Amino acid sequence: MSNSRLASEPISTALAGPVGRVARHHRAVPAVPTHGLFIGGEWVESVSGDTFDSRNPADRLDVVGRFQGGTAADVARAVRAAEAALPGWRATPAPRRGEVLYRFGQLMVEHKERLARAMTREMGKVLVEARGDVQEGIDIAFLMAGEGRRSFGDTVPSELPDKWAMSIRQPIGVVGVITPWNFPMAIPCWKMMPALVTGNTVVFKPASDTPHCATLLAELMAEAGFPPGTVNLVTGSGTDVGDAIVESPDVQVISFTGSTATGKRIAERAARRLKRVSLELGGKNAIVVLADADLDLATDGILWSAFGTTGQRCTACSRVIVEQAVVEPLIERLEARARALRLGPGLEPETDVGPLINEAAREKVERYIEVGLREGELIVGGQRATGMRGGFDLDRGQFFEPTIFRNVKPMDRIAQEEIFGPVLSVIAVPDYEAALVALNQTRYGLSGAIYTQNVNTAFRAMRDFETGIVYVNAGTIGAETHLPFGGIKETGNGHREAGHVALDTYTEWKSIYVDFSGRLQRAQIDNQTSG
Ligand code: NAP
Repeated sequence: MSNSRLASEPISTALAGPVGRVARHHRAVPAVPTHGLFIGGEWVESVSGDTFDSRNPADRLDVVGRFQGGTAADVARAVRAAEAALPGWRATPAPRRGEVLYRFGQLMVEHKERLARAMTREMGKVLVEARGDVQEGIDIAFLMAGEGRRSFGDTVPSELPDKWAMSIRQPIGVVGVITPWNFPMAIPCWKMMPALVTGNTVVFKPASDTPHCATLLAELMAEAGFPPGTVNLVTGSGTDVGDAIVESPDVQVISFTGSTATGKRIAERAARRLKRVSLELGGKNAIVVLADADLDLATDGILWSAFGTTGQRCTACSRVIVEQAVVEPLIERLEARARALRLGPGLEPETDVGPLINEAAREKVERYIEVGLREGELIVGGQRATGMRGGFDLDRGQFFEPTIFRNVKPMDRIAQEEIFGPVLSVIAVPDYEAALVALNQTRYGLSGAIYTQNVNTAFRAMRDFETGIVYVNAGTIGAETHLPFGGIKETGNGHREAGHVALDTYTEWKSIYVDFSGRLQRAQIDNQTSG
């Protein structure tokens, strides 16, 4: 793949176009590396000349980089490049395509630590979790590389003699990939790897909070050998770049992960053009703890699920539904453990919980704390984390105390709405049946978990939870890439990522009949013995 300029190298001010109307920064500001859009195998500037900065959420003074504010015109350029690359890429034998994915996976392995550190710096999750995020990208690259030699179709008997019947998968065309910031490497890989191995080309728009993570991925994809135009990166806002991708008549598939509100808007607009749309949206995930549960194990799972990634996972646990008989000992454990969590920058080895992604996210959490104070009883947290801790000034970032409310009722707002922060509601119920009702009483349906020693109850939960993912004696997070991932109800629109079923989003089925009888054979007619 030809690279006119590596994205990690600053774009010189001499190349800059006029500073646009909505530019937030003049290019002359020194020392901030400026990164390009990646279109047709070249690193280029936005036609608008606008840029925006990405900042470290643990330290707002730390500018990670300066990125292009892409526009509809840039999307049009990227779509043209993706269309131009399509015939060559779809004609490349699938095993060869898989080998490029494999090389990309190997490069991610090689650069894992660098990628993880860059991710922690840009979006705040603690380093051990950032490594896990990169690892998910690696896992899906290797899984999908294998699909280059698999991508099974069916070969089935025909109802007529001397006739064969089979089905094959075919690429659809240009795929628009629109992703959130909370898994800034895993989620783009979950989408791009199956899209590419099946012979599609991609226009990728990352979240505006994580353009650097996306840029690093695009660099490695270029190095792995994806031909120019197969992968195109356009940074910029959802309303400018995202909208243009959704509206482009030449983008046939939209694969979107983000909030339910944005997903609905995208689905409505894409429907007018009959586009295929895969949506992975919000969640309000619950862990059920029954009286016979191992409470220490349950406490570990709840803490990890509620406060990992500072509660900013689509699978995060934000509701604990506990059988009344064990509510007090469970709350005692949760409170003690939540108080002991250490807040700080994710790059510090001592840190358990990093910052929230941006100030708007922290303000949203604060608004829900006000709601929670009216609805339940605050037992820990409930406020911004400030001041010096462990030698670090929390005032420099957007930190928030891990928070737990008790005496919350299933239909309270804090038990119904996605807060996307470190806020946990404890709901007490009399028995399993009431727990099941409460768990299912939500418009979302992503992940659910149950802690119990009773195998019969565990199997009932596996069957009855209205979620796409169920965990038994484990928290709500921790999906593996070789199983389908996604949710029901307003968490999505029926598609799944990961696993071999991910290919369904990016392929059309073609059914093929080969008649070698040498005569006209009429299906449903000539095979009938009577009538
Ligand atoms: P978001 O605000 O919906 O943004 C997601 C992406 O959509 C971003 O790239 C955003 O761009 C873009 N976008 C915004 N408006 C758009 C528009 N009008 N047209 C096209 N694209 C548009 O979500 P988020 O805050 O980044 O992510 C958090 C949400 O994602 C949570 O609800 C979480 O549950 C969900 N999530 C779901 C899963 C899952 O698999 N189910 C996984 C992870 C996260 P900008 O950044 O430029 O605004």
